[in-house]
Amino acid sequence: MENKGLLQTDELYKYILETNVYPHEPEPLKEIRALTASHRLFFMGTSPDAGQMLEMLLKLTGAKKTLELGVYTGYSLLLTALTIPEDGKIVAIDMNREYYEVGRPVIENAGVEHKINFIESEAIPALDKLLEDPDNKGSFDFVFVDADKINYLNYHEKVMKLVKVNGIIVYDNTLWYGSVAKSEDSVPEVLKQGRNFLLKFNKAVATDRRVKISTVPLGDGITICRRVY
Ligand code: SAM
Ligand code: CA
Repeated sequence: MENKGLLQTDELYKYILETNVYPHEPEPLKEIRALTASHRLFFMGTSPDAGQMLEMLLKLTGAKKTLELGVYTGYSLLLTALTIPEDGKIVAIDMNREYYEVGRPVIENAGVEHKINFIESEAIPALDKLLEDPDNKGSFDFVFVDADKINYLNYHEKVMKLVKVNGIIVYDNTLWYGSVAKSEDSVPEVLKQGRNFLLKFNKAVATDRRVKISTVPLGDGITICRRVY
């Protein structure tokens, strides 16, 4: 499956990438993207246009302490590490260190590894552990959620306790190749399970009064939530 996002044509997507995105993409991110392109799960990597929006949000909010669920080869992680200040910190959780190791040399060369605390774990127990420390509660400026979609609602409840009031949580892939707006019968089998979980998640988050949201049709759809209380 192509990771071309939700736009009407490939040409339009190519135009956006070439005109607006690639000229601003830092060299180490290009490197990690090139390494990821030959990985068997390449389609899981964050698209550079969505990455550009993450960078914008990180800068606008002045994020310093961040959390990421779902690292894969590290595109969004490296982007975050390059964007936050020198003394910023990222807690990055993924149950698969092998994928992280693909991009880690690039992260190391970029001189930003000291900002990263990589935790190899299933996300739920790792979040529970973070929550055991009272200092972590309401302390994160920014959270990027991009792990298994089945658990997005579980992550939401935990992450809401970790992010500060006015902090941002970004959920990736919330439009799931556009399948959330299609009838179940017309959706390929491979997308059905994710579609069903995301339908529940999108509905829940849209009616959650603790957050204000904006869903942006970039990449595979990203939902930006600001914790309001
Ligand atoms: N943000 C990444 C990037 O920019 O390339 C892409 C993340 S990829 C879509 C999803 C990642 O979530 C995979 O690396 C996978 O190992 C991890 N993952 C899936 N289920 C998980 C779970 N239950 N706990 C922790 N990590 C999980
Ligand atoms: Ca994703």
